Amino acid sequence: MYRSNTCGALRASDIGSEVILSGWVHKVRDKGFVAWVDLRDRYGIVQLVFDEERTSNELMEKARELGRETVIQVKGEVIERASKNPNIPTGDIEVLVKELNILNVSKLPPFTIEDETDGGEDIRMKYRYLDIRRNPVKNNLIFRHKVSMEVRKYLSDQGFIDVETPYLIKSTPEGARDFLVPSRMNEGQFYALPQSPQTFKQLLMVGGMDKYFQIVKCFRDEDLRADRQPEFTQIDCEMAFVEQEDILNTFEGLTKHLLKEIKGVEVDEFPRMTFDDAMRLYGNDKPDIRFGMQFGELNEVAQHKDFGVFNSAELVVGIAVPGAAEYTRKEIDALIDWVKRPQVGAKGMVYVKCNEDGSFKSSVDKFYDQDDLAKWAEVTGAEAGDLICVLSGAINQTRAQLSALRMELATRLGLRKSDEFAPLWVIDFPLLELDEETGNYHPMHHPFTSPKPGQLELLESDPGAVKANAYDLVLNGNEIGGGSIRIHDKETQATMFKHLGFTPEEAKSQFGFLMDAFQYGAPPHGGIAFGLDRLVSILGGQETIRDFIAFPKNNSGRDVMIDAPANIDQAQLDELHLKVTFKS
Ligand code: ASP
Repeated sequence: MYRSNTCGALRASDIGSEVILSGWVHKVRDKGFVAWVDLRDRYGIVQLVFDEERTSNELMEKARELGRETVIQVKGEVIERASKNPNIPTGDIEVLVKELNILNVSKLPPFTIEDETDGGEDIRMKYRYLDIRRNPVKNNLIFRHKVSMEVRKYLSDQGFIDVETPYLIKSTPEGARDFLVPSRMNEGQFYALPQSPQTFKQLLMVGGMDKYFQIVKCFRDEDLRADRQPEFTQIDCEMAFVEQEDILNTFEGLTKHLLKEIKGVEVDEFPRMTFDDAMRLYGNDKPDIRFGMQFGELNEVAQHKDFGVFNSAELVVGIAVPGAAEYTRKEIDALIDWVKRPQVGAKGMVYVKCNEDGSFKSSVDKFYDQDDLAKWAEVTGAEAGDLICVLSGAINQTRAQLSALRMELATRLGLRKSDEFAPLWVIDFPLLELDEETGNYHPMHHPFTSPKPGQLELLESDPGAVKANAYDLVLNGNEIGGGSIRIHDKETQATMFKHLGFTPEEAKSQFGFLMDAFQYGAPPHGGIAFGLDRLVSILGGQETIRDFIAFPKNNSGRDVMIDAPANIDQAQLDELHLKVTFKS
């Protein structure tokens, strides 16, 4: 028997009992006549005591030499501590050691195994198994486990069946590049790793499974913008015989359950906002509605004066920043520099200070009088003490820039509180989006999303105007889930592929299996997928998904611990019928 108890378990009520403990040496304090060792495992820390009077000299010597992170087993008696430590649950007791058994010695770890470690990100990732011994990482993994168990419990109770789908498949278009796997048995052919199980879950509906879910890895070979991982986890779900309303209600239920069970937070019915409104009011299809600062469009009240910049702009739009009228000239200049950074890309920013006495002071006083500025304040909802920040230019860019400014200011003003949760549904997404570089339309979601009833005809005349039965679940400014009601008949699916630029042959070779299945009684169906990594990090009140992944990749898509990706040897290449030549 390696242990009778864990290191976090013993309390004053155990005083007098004989115990066997195993764990890692966290710290040794040697006072000469007495030595203490903190012994640690997943459950906590317990203090071991060795002294010359009560333990043998030999044992004392052995204890003194224990290095950090050595794995030991001890046998001893639980005794009352002379000086108690109220900061840890085992702080009332210590274990007087009678036997010490060294199970495995450890090299000196490259960083301290403490909550506040001296190890930087790179070194911690290289020795991630040591990092996982630290409380912050360990607790995040346990937290993630709790969330995924609650997901499984809830969905299973609602009649969902967990079905696994294959990883070695053919491309599923979710808008990213595929990771490819060469086939040894089929020379010259490749599998793609799933960007999601999309087509399989639809086939499960054709198969009559009715309510499916899976907590599943997805693979997307994207440029790794901050906080993306090439492999990530989805809570993937699909239901048959449902309309959009059924899906929204079911997964609102799941989200409420998680907020309640995990955070103890009860939220009312989730608001719903159309995509168009989200863009108009927040410049963003995943608005953070924990705070106000809604956009006010100022074209009507700010154009047709003598200010050329505004007159030539497609959109003039502002936000009222609460309490920011006090900003000094220097602070405002810094804000203007911030919006002009290439990452944001604005050409400049006009501002209006709404003074406490009801007057206005703006950077464009030459062109606008007090009455004009009062109208700006009305449109943006500004009150005395606020600062109105105004950007102008092409609609999409200007909205994106003002959205970035809104989020930045909210962060600076402490309005993005991690213990507040403001979910909402964004609905009525466009079916297609225009790629401004190529002039082609792409599915905004994926090509299996159904247009709203009666809108199919518009595909021909005004593709950008077609709305989809597609929805996103947004939490605190993050898209945590997205899905749609699917096309379930062959003709509509074929029309979609045609509009996306597939020839009938291409559509058949890539998606023939799905179109075939649609001919055998495919039920109406729809679904959603949640990003589990992101959901967990938001519920955990932290910024990056990497903190909740046991073995994450870095920004170059590398696992620095196992050193992957890596070269492979010639024999392996030969087996796969591959020859590597480098283009550059
Ligand atoms: N497959 C979609 C995605 O990965 C989700 C869905 O439509 O259910 O975003």
